Amino acid sequence: TSSDSASLLDYGRNVTNGLGRITEGIMTSGKGSYVEYDDGRKMLDFTCGYGVTSLGHCHPKISKAAADQCMNIVHAQCNIAFHEPYLRLIKKLLPIMPDASLDSFFFWNSGSEAVETALKMARIVTGRQNIICMQGAFHGHTFGAMAVTKSKTIYSKGVAPLMPGVFSIPFPFWHQLGETPDLPESAQVARCLYQLDLLLAQQTAPADTAAIIVEPVLGEGGYVPAPAAFLEGLRAVCDKHGILLIADEVQSGFSRTGKFFAIEYSGVRPDILIMAKGLANGFPLSAVVSRKELTDKLASGSMGGTYAGNAVSCAAACAVVDAMHEENILSQVNERSSELFSALNAIKTAHPAHILDVRGRGLMVAVEFATPAGPGAAHDAVAARDGVAAQMASRVAKKCIERGMLILTTSVYEVVRFLPPLNISATDLKKGAEIFREAVEEVIR
Ligand code: PMP
Repeated sequence: TSSDSASLLDYGRNVTNGLGRITEGIMTSGKGSYVEYDDGRKMLDFTCGYGVTSLGHCHPKISKAAADQCMNIVHAQCNIAFHEPYLRLIKKLLPIMPDASLDSFFFWNSGSEAVETALKMARIVTGRQNIICMQGAFHGHTFGAMAVTKSKTIYSKGVAPLMPGVFSIPFPFWHQLGETPDLPESAQVARCLYQLDLLLAQQTAPADTAAIIVEPVLGEGGYVPAPAAFLEGLRAVCDKHGILLIADEVQSGFSRTGKFFAIEYSGVRPDILIMAKGLANGFPLSAVVSRKELTDKLASGSMGGTYAGNAVSCAAACAVVDAMHEENILSQVNERSSELFSALNAIKTAHPAHILDVRGRGLMVAVEFATPAGPGAAHDAVAARDGVAAQMASRVAKKCIERGMLILTTSVYEVVRFLPPLNISATDLKKGAEIFREAVEEVIR
């Protein structure tokens, strides 16, 4: 009852202050593209819980697969025995890997843990120590993942020293280069690859460099697809020097961008691929995929984790892969994506002074607002605002929430991000875009 919820809410003060929230109250249920709160509020979910419930809340086939597995075995520990969903999931994932060379799997619980594993693996198999990451990247909250995270100071403030041996280059995103959106993509790529060459000559010798880690679509850093030429350039450097290329597809993977994996847009083969989030539609599961030839170098028994590759999560993930095939999710994503882009571009056209950019891929889409001082002054604006709530983006997101739609901001720039369910109806997608338009118009009025 609601009086139970009211007294339960008192315990909110016993939850660590480190955890923030974008809404009040208690979320009680979710179905498809909507979630409900204890006070009867029903919200259209354009967050998918940070890109996780890609096939909607409580997808019947996924929930059933998990429930059935619960009655069979919940915890068949991976250092004790293989279990059936673990191996069945590998069988289903192999044919959708972006490259046939990716044939060796390790399942973990979260994206951060998978990143940790990828970094450890890269060091072990190359016998080298240093890691190169991207400015603006987000890879997680654990120590190693945090060390390669360069998206916001709030995550690591007061936490250092982090893992040593980490170097970074700019990601081809005009903000990261102190430029305006007009700088041609080819020039952005050339500058970033030049910085990589310099880094390898001045700071970390190729013979000391184990891996380059990159998000094929920069996520928390502002929703920027990596140009194919950039990923090709990274691949070429890796090939030349025996460095491993790690693709972090925790957010961009699993059909989110209109292909199973965003790196497919470039045709580049990663040496290690990391996935999580949409993989099990809400059950905790991540995966680190590499080549057997590389993982054969790991000592048997050197890896593990009490809950790694949980049987219920693996059973849910099998149902996710099945549903993605059966429900033609990729073609749905591509249809909804062009509808979303045209709706958002129309809002941009109507408000050119306020909306700077509409970008992304598939249903991983962002709108960036202009800072009052203009894009050229972005660095000043970011510096002035460090720690202070963003202005346009967070105000618009708040108005969307008041109007019944959950939506997130991201990055140190003025970015609102759209992560609707991949199987959202055209009607609900249109409704979400309309709520966003009303929110923008209320804020700029
Ligand atoms: N990598 C990327 C690209 C991510 O977006 C995230 C989560 N936002 C992570 C890693 C960390 O995943 P998790 O929160 O499951 O640890």
